[in-house]
Amino acid sequence: MSVNRAYLDYNATAPLRPQARAAVLSALDDVGNASSVHAEGRRARALVEAARVKVAALAGASARHVVFTSGATEAINCVVSGRAWKTLMVSAVEHPAVAASVARSSADHIVIPVDGSGRIDVDTFGTLIDCILGREHVHPADTLIIVQHANNETGVVQPIDEIANVARDRGIRLMVDAVQSAGRVEIDQRRWGAEYLVLSSHKIGGPQGAGALVATDDAKIDALLVGGGQERGRRAGTENIAAIAGFGVAASAARSDLADISRMADLRARLETGLINVAPDAIVIGKDAPRLANTSLIALPRAPAETAVIALDLAGVAASAGAACSSGKTTRSPVLAAMGIHNDIAKCAVRFSLGWATTEDDVSRCIDAWQRVNRIRSGVRDVA
Ligand code: PLP
Repeated sequence: MSVNRAYLDYNATAPLRPQARAAVLSALDDVGNASSVHAEGRRARALVEAARVKVAALAGASARHVVFTSGATEAINCVVSGRAWKTLMVSAVEHPAVAASVARSSADHIVIPVDGSGRIDVDTFGTLIDCILGREHVHPADTLIIVQHANNETGVVQPIDEIANVARDRGIRLMVDAVQSAGRVEIDQRRWGAEYLVLSSHKIGGPQGAGALVATDDAKIDALLVGGGQERGRRAGTENIAAIAGFGVAASAARSDLADISRMADLRARLETGLINVAPDAIVIGKDAPRLANTSLIALPRAPAETAVIALDLAGVAASAGAACSSGKTTRSPVLAAMGIHNDIAKCAVRFSLGWATTEDDVSRCIDAWQRVNRIRSGVRDVA
């Protein structure tokens, strides 16, 4: 990372942690296919299995349930495209990886609404499920509920314990997208009883190109990739050993971050206070809901997010206009639309997301840069 820049886009991709980098490099220097029986193969296998234990610990899951994939998108696609599903119940604020795979599925889709803060109301959710289950052709066994733990744009955290209870009481399977919550709030697949949970390496300081599907023994899986029977037949193909090794090390580090999450909360509080001091009419979206300690989605009225992000970039700050996957599109954020946020505000929403390497200097630089955004908004020519 450049010392002259403040990278505040961890929800898009976190910088590679030094210990994960070391694990990747060391694994790249090893030869060996994890399916081979010779010493080199066994060494490769040991790297994969060590990573599996670490990723399982982060997820609160059993190591045998961890299936390594190329990322969370693959894991999500694998579950959603399963032939078992006739009904998919999906929250209105899911990541495009979920929304697009659900849209492609031939199963019936039911949208679970969120309130103005972006959260699912558990009572409404229970009533909705009961109503859906009352329909003749809907059965718990072929229904899947998909809910993210925390939102990538707003950082708003869902009441996942209660949601899991509702699903379990009705005998419906649950998939939790824990990509953004990993290392930021505790995740506990076992306690939730979620049959499926997905994680991504590059959001927690591991390398890009690795992810995990946690799937219990009785979770139905139609493997997307078939072939050599790797990953207990749930995801064939020679393992990406270096990326998996880095993912494992990052998972352990992300788990340790939880003990020091107040550092993140302090930095985020400093950032939000500073940004509001510069522009008191700025709106922090989801402010009153439980949020990840690292995320701030903030709208400066009359300052379009694309313009703000370019101005911030020129001032040495990397932030994003909503979700990175949506950048380049001028369509309204479905997440903010589901929250009922007026388009005039939604189109001004800039996401700052902090992480393991964020410093107080980064926050100060961002607040300084925000002054530039505010001046541009006010039509003041910037001579800096
Ligand atoms: N789910 C959420 C909530 C995300 O934020 C992302 C990435 O932005 C994904 C899924 C997809 O993850 P990956 O990049 O590993 O495919």
